[in-house]
Amino acid sequence: MRIDINEPRAVEQFWEGMHDVAAAAARHQDEDLYRALVKIGRAALAQGVELVPAGGLFLACPVCDAVPGQRCINVPGEPLNGTVLHRQRVDVMEKAMKGEAPLPGPLA
Ligand SMILES: [Zn+2]
Repeated sequence: MRIDINEPRAVEQFWEGMHDVAAAAARHQDEDLYRALVKIGRAALAQGVELVPAGGLFLACPVCDAVPGQRCINVPGEPLNGTVLHRQRVDVMEKAMKGEAPLPGPLA
């Protein structure tokens, strides 16, 4: 298989893969898999992979309680306004991945 390192969607695809695995970890309640995923994410960031908002999908949402891999849902007072993720989920993800905030409970 040929891998194009200049593939324009490479970063999005990386985070898509991350949230697919997170969804599997949530489905199987596999905390070890989830922790491995966080490790991979942090290593990727250290290597200069950018965070994209959809990367937040691999954490649970603090607003609507969507589990990893699951899209956010509208809750009273916190409409999504056409976005896939609550802004707070993206913020938590950014802070948690940079070590500035604790990770939310893995499979809460
Ligand atoms: Zn949400």
